[in-house]
Amino acid sequence: LSFTISAIFSLVFKSKKPIYLTMLLLLSAAILNTIIIKKPALKKNEKEFSHPTVVQNLQKMIKHETIKSNIDLNDQVREAYMNELKQLFPTVFKEMELRLVSRSFLLHYKYETDPQKPFLIMCHSDVVDATGDWTNPPFSGVVKDNKIYGRGTFDTKGSLCAMLQAAEDLFSQKKLTRSFYIFSSFDEETTHVGAPEVVEYFKKENIILDFVLDEGGAIIDPPFPGLKHRCAMIALAEKGQMTIKFTATSNGGHSSQPPRITPLSTLAKLVLVTPKMFTNRVHPITLQTFKSIAPYMKFPLRFILGNGWLFKPLVKLVLLINSTSAAMLRTTNVFTIAQAGTEFNVVPREASMVANFRFGLHQDYNESKCLMEKVCKKLNVKMDVISGCKNSKIATTGEKYKFLTKTIDKVFGDVIITPYFALGGTDARFFGDVCDNVYRFIPLSVSTDQLLRMHGIDENIDVSTLMQAVEFYKEIILGQNKQ
Ligand SMILES: [Zn+2]
Repeated sequence: LSFTISAIFSLVFKSKKPIYLTMLLLLSAAILNTIIIKKPALKKNEKEFSHPTVVQNLQKMIKHETIKSNIDLNDQVREAYMNELKQLFPTVFKEMELRLVSRSFLLHYKYETDPQKPFLIMCHSDVVDATGDWTNPPFSGVVKDNKIYGRGTFDTKGSLCAMLQAAEDLFSQKKLTRSFYIFSSFDEETTHVGAPEVVEYFKKENIILDFVLDEGGAIIDPPFPGLKHRCAMIALAEKGQMTIKFTATSNGGHSSQPPRITPLSTLAKLVLVTPKMFTNRVHPITLQTFKSIAPYMKFPLRFILGNGWLFKPLVKLVLLINSTSAAMLRTTNVFTIAQAGTEFNVVPREASMVANFRFGLHQDYNESKCLMEKVCKKLNVKMDVISGCKNSKIATTGEKYKFLTKTIDKVFGDVIITPYFALGGTDARFFGDVCDNVYRFIPLSVSTDQLLRMHGIDENIDVSTLMQAVEFYKEIILGQNKQ
């Protein structure tokens, strides 16, 4: 606005002075903002949490090979796992009503006089396959050097075990006065049937949830160069996605007299054009992320990122440096499957490719699909959407968010707490239909090495952070009691 006003003044008075003046004012505001920017003190929580039982319980949960293929082939795997949970957390299963939907389980505790809406904490029980050369067998739950190893320790049996343990402890102490749910699906890594089934149940029963807490964020090593503090990343939203099959056809022919355009040359064009269809935009959530982190950074990043409102183009450039941060700006696409001819000297009559898209928050399912339809029409390519879902609803940053940040601060202390949006998909996205406050955060503090081992070999978490997680979930369940 100030630029527009100064431009009008410049035109009227035929002088460039107002423009320079406005620029000077904005720059001074940015410098002042950088100087007075508040840097909340981060104090480490010196309290050590000890809870040997939760470690043993997680070891037992890891031993169940709840891999998708196993669950499909054999319901016994699921039954044995559920029986194990009942033995490990007897009071939870005594006090909470168990509801088994086809691909998930839901536990419900109803406190009759609780005037508030129930809340829900969740994490999935299925794990991805564990191939490769593991140092210890992936389903043994070995504890070594204060770390617990095994498929699912981080993704996400560790946090599920911690929340069940927290509830078990609180029920035993008869401290609960809130209505709440614990939910876990068996197909988060694959088909995503379990979560929507439960959401349908909530809708049918007219149940609206106070807040939902799922995986999707954690406490991680400093995500930016020059930053010294660890960050608790709370995802307020997640990207939607779609998978499309593109098919180009021709009359075929012999390679000695090739036509000017072939199915493969058309698809090659499509591959080159597709990324250009989508625009880069810095989303307000990303600006919020930088605003939380900037006070702890050094000049010039502190100056640029702390004043994202003024330096959006520069912020964009910083994000474009690597492909992970660039994905925060736009709809991304990648071609993953290709099929065409079988003979080296025959022009194929048909060629097809499959691409996966993840939407920028400003170019959701409909717009991204529409843009691809336009390109396909121009190139004469047939397009079939195989699957797709919209971007999730964006969670609020009001009272419930503040409660979450307070709890993280209380249990973990010296971490920067920041909102962001997740690039990958979780079960949480389905819950937007029954809740405005869906957050993605598990209270596990992991190193970059541990983070990268998710879905890889030697997945592990620290024993100490598992114990912190129990404390965190206790605060979550109890803190709501106090309100
Ligand atoms: Zn997961």
